[in-house]
Amino acid sequence: MSTTTLKPHQRELWGHPIGLYVLFFTEMWERFSYYGMRALLVIYMIAKVGHKDGAGLGWTNLEAYQLYGWYVMLVYVVSIPGGILADKVLGQKKTVMLGAIILVLGHGTLAIEAEWAFFTGLGLIILGVGCLKPNISTMVGGLYKKGDIRRDKGFSIFYIGINLGSLLATTFVGLVVAKWGWHAGFGMAGVAMLFGLIVYVWGQKYLVHVGNPQTAEQKKEDVSIVKIFSTIFSSPIQLGIFVILLVLSIYAGFTFEGVDHWGYGALFIFLSFVVGLLMMIYKTLENQIMRDRFLVLLLSFLLVIVFWGAFEQAGGLMSVYTETKTDRMLFGWLVPTPMFQGLNAGFIILFAVWVANIWAKRKLKNKEASSLFKMATGTIIMGLGFVFMIFAVREFEANGSSGMQWLVLAYLFHTIGELSSSPVSLSFVTKLAPVKYASLMMGLYFAATGLGGKVAGILGEKSEHFGEYTIFIGIVVFTVAFGLLVIALMKPLKRLTHGAEDNEIEMHNDEAEGFELADRS
Ligand code: GLN
Repeated sequence: MSTTTLKPHQRELWGHPIGLYVLFFTEMWERFSYYGMRALLVIYMIAKVGHKDGAGLGWTNLEAYQLYGWYVMLVYVVSIPGGILADKVLGQKKTVMLGAIILVLGHGTLAIEAEWAFFTGLGLIILGVGCLKPNISTMVGGLYKKGDIRRDKGFSIFYIGINLGSLLATTFVGLVVAKWGWHAGFGMAGVAMLFGLIVYVWGQKYLVHVGNPQTAEQKKEDVSIVKIFSTIFSSPIQLGIFVILLVLSIYAGFTFEGVDHWGYGALFIFLSFVVGLLMMIYKTLENQIMRDRFLVLLLSFLLVIVFWGAFEQAGGLMSVYTETKTDRMLFGWLVPTPMFQGLNAGFIILFAVWVANIWAKRKLKNKEASSLFKMATGTIIMGLGFVFMIFAVREFEANGSSGMQWLVLAYLFHTIGELSSSPVSLSFVTKLAPVKYASLMMGLYFAATGLGGKVAGILGEKSEHFGEYTIFIGIVVFTVAFGLLVIALMKPLKRLTHGAEDNEIEMHNDEAEGFELADRS
């Protein structure tokens, strides 16, 4: 087919469907607003009257950390209902649109100077990200046919968009707040999200074939919620597991140490319902191949929790370490702490294509380059980054401060690890999830990253008691051991994927009509 006769959604640019770039810029602006706001959140909560950027909420550090931990986790856990909404009702495309609108309203509300506006804004952002984030990622996968080797690279490009948004936001938001105050900073996030919404609406013609709701026919074949729930009564074992989990959750939740234990109670109960739902879905899947793939995907989420549990130290423990124990003087200039977080986004933009190419070349040479292998290797590389933090602590103990180079090296390793793992996991979910539950599975993936974030927060709290040195060593040992375990189990795990990643070849989209649901099984 010649290029001129191609419909917009079949056209390509630089070897990828144009739809990828629409999603790239939508997500870039969404992440700009997310990370711009995130960079302000904790410091706004603890800022007291007389703060140089204006009064914030004047909370204690502990109160701020706690709300922050819950916020970051909820933002990703709400991806589960966000995914279900897309699978069952609206389709991914409309759910993303809904999420973008809610986000504009949420960030806009934060621009209002009032306590009610603060909580309402956060609530709206949680809902908005929950609708947008998992579903836009699933749509990226929908742009590629089954077996198309470009899929992983497509996700790497998409990942650059995410980090471009984050880098721009963390660079500029501080300047805006310094000049016009907190609420201008929050407002800027709202304007950024509005740009994202505009790009997305404009780009719809490039996305006609992805993210659509189920057709009436597919709905007829669909497993109803009633059927899913009725399966639980058909298996005493599943019912037993579910009830035991629920009772343990209630017990654990309400006896957990800490001031926000009711929150843990609610979380654990929610999670046991999720586990119950997953067991039921497993039973209703049509054949063993689908069931095995579903299982291996869920197992891979354990690796995701481990990865993010270590990686997310960046926003907590490593950030405090940078602020309090690192010599940040560079040619007479004190490098601001948030800039070190920008290193991750900057490294991603520099290295994303390079890392993706290394893996693609390995694959073409028929060497081991499955997603699970990449995820496990990524976790090991990221974990090894903490070795530099161990050196940093040793230097601090000897000299009273440690050099910046340790942080730069740690973030470099974290980034290479992230690039081997995170975009790959997104792609993996789109390859293995049953089509009917594609968005739910993506929601679960993000929920796993959110749980990892919560684990990171808890580790940060524990460092107060055990000291950073012990925590950093513990992270290195655990991540490397867990990654090696997954590599040791690679054969049986890959068997469960039933060749979902075999025979991947370069394809083009000039027959793009309707492949999204037709081609993936
Ligand atoms: N940094 C990535 C993003 O913002 C990954 C976040 C995550 O998966 N928790 O999309």
